[in-house]
Amino acid sequence: MHELGVAMEIYRISRDAVAGHGAGRLESVRVAVGELRAVDPELIKFAWQATVAGGPDAGSELIVDWHPAVQRCETCGADKARDTAGWLPLCPDCASPLRVDGGLELDVLQVSYLREEEERAVSGGVG
Ligand SMILES: [Zn+2]
Repeated sequence: MHELGVAMEIYRISRDAVAGHGAGRLESVRVAVGELRAVDPELIKFAWQATVAGGPDAGSELIVDWHPAVQRCETCGADKARDTAGWLPLCPDCASPLRVDGGLELDVLQVSYLREEEERAVSGGVG
């Protein structure tokens, strides 16, 4: 499954982002996923759960911001609605070639992290 490798990479980036924040666990990670990345938004969430299962971040949530690609006509200067069957090769209004815009996003946007300092303070004398 392609999504598993992507999820593991997102996890690595998220962990790097909070590396200096001490003990704790990830609460949620928000990612932008473009349509043209061939990442299924449901499969990537499933792959995320598989990635974090059994570890310190089990139960953390992957939030997917879906970015569809759009087709734009530079002659008309407008986005053209896509046919449900797929891509339009030419502008339906002026027959100019259409350009594909967006849909290539694959970024970690936000990492929410729960620190365990309070918990450690409570049990501080033990260990
Ligand atoms: Zn046009």
